[in-house]
Amino acid sequence: MPRLVMKFGGTSVADLDRIRSAAEKVRREVERGYDVAVVVSARAGETDELAGRVRATSTLYDAREYDTVVAAGEQVASGLMALTLQEIGVPARSWQGWQIPIHTTGAHGAARILEIETQEMVRKFGEGLHAVVSGFQGIGPDGRISTLGRGGSDTSAVALAAALGAERCDIYTDVDGIYTADPRIERRARKLDKIAYEEMLELASLGARVLQTRAVELAMRYKVRLQVLSSFGDQPGTLVCDEEEIVEQNVVSGVAHVRDEAKITLLKVPDRPGVAAAIFGPLADHGVNVDMIVQNIGADGMTDMTFSCPTDEVARARAALEAAQGALRYRELVVDDEVAKISVVGIGMRSHSGVARTMFSALAAEGINIKVITTSEIKVSVLIDRKYMELAVQALHQTFGLADD
Ligand code: ADP
Ligand code: ASP
Ligand code: MG
Repeated sequence: MPRLVMKFGGTSVADLDRIRSAAEKVRREVERGYDVAVVVSARAGETDELAGRVRATSTLYDAREYDTVVAAGEQVASGLMALTLQEIGVPARSWQGWQIPIHTTGAHGAARILEIETQEMVRKFGEGLHAVVSGFQGIGPDGRISTLGRGGSDTSAVALAAALGAERCDIYTDVDGIYTADPRIERRARKLDKIAYEEMLELASLGARVLQTRAVELAMRYKVRLQVLSSFGDQPGTLVCDEEEIVEQNVVSGVAHVRDEAKITLLKVPDRPGVAAAIFGPLADHGVNVDMIVQNIGADGMTDMTFSCPTDEVARARAALEAAQGALRYRELVVDDEVAKISVVGIGMRSHSGVARTMFSALAAEGINIKVITTSEIKVSVLIDRKYMELAVQALHQTFGLADD
């Protein structure tokens, strides 16, 4: 029998009615002759609530216990989905990450999948039993529950599709595909029929949370046919595929944003070999995910170092840098936690110059000041004041001709 992975996100399993309509979609595929592995997220809001309870209990929490708590939402959803399938005549059982097992690294809270043992699940398919798998979770080398980072159920689904040799991995969510910008910010965003793995990888890593970055990485590596579509309708979604499959290609395919960024500057650090390592070493040791980095060298043998990180890591960054003050001897530490990151992405940039200039002019025309810039072969990102975030997304979307007129 051909196999199919169907993943349902938080809003798609938010209540019993929605679980029932998701189960109907599963039944339809079962009737088409597929062995189905359903991957579920926790009910919308549940993981946030569980994570909040961990933080309220312990500020510098033990990441293994964090995983024990936050993985619970998926366990409930998988049981309810299996029961619902049984109720509508689809034989199914739930599987937790450790039961399959889905082996991961030991980086609790941000683990990576190493291997999935599918033999038992495949044997059960042979008995006519479909699978409902808790997304987001696995088992670490320490034998304890691990989780894959926020949005990680997408990665569970793609990894399972690769391990099962599934014909497709369908990601059902609360939008009907991948858009040229987050449709919640840009109402004129256009749904794409297809998008290249590489572009989706950049968009995901630059904030388009519709797919977890790691999920796209795995889909690209294992050539998983990945489709994003709506749980609530029956329209076709967006296919993530090789760029050769895409006929029409804009220079820019999409605009992404990250709302909660912070910009941290160390002013007047004595400039000497090893200064960058001395700054970013302690930040890494404190688990701070540094994103953009800019260094300005002054004529006086001093340097200013600026970097960005998520706002909820500012406290840890500050603690790391204050502890290193003796060694670094910077004059001042300045935090601006009211910034956002806006990026434009497109594989067409490889063969077209001038995207950065067009982007900067469009932002200038709206009176938006750029604080930090980074570029790669297929993207340009800027940090700006958060209050201009929506305006910037809309202006760039318009400038690059992405709007749905
Ligand atoms: P799920 O719980 O189903 O995993 P998510 O909230 O993680 O859903 O992802 C879906 C959301 O991603 C959408 O509601 C949308 O607001 C957001 N999103 C951001 N960028 C895009 C984009 N380019 N295309 C579609 N959705 C996007
Ligand atoms: N429930 C987890 C989260 O909210 C995983 C997911 O939804 O993909 O991050
Ligand atoms: Mg998600």
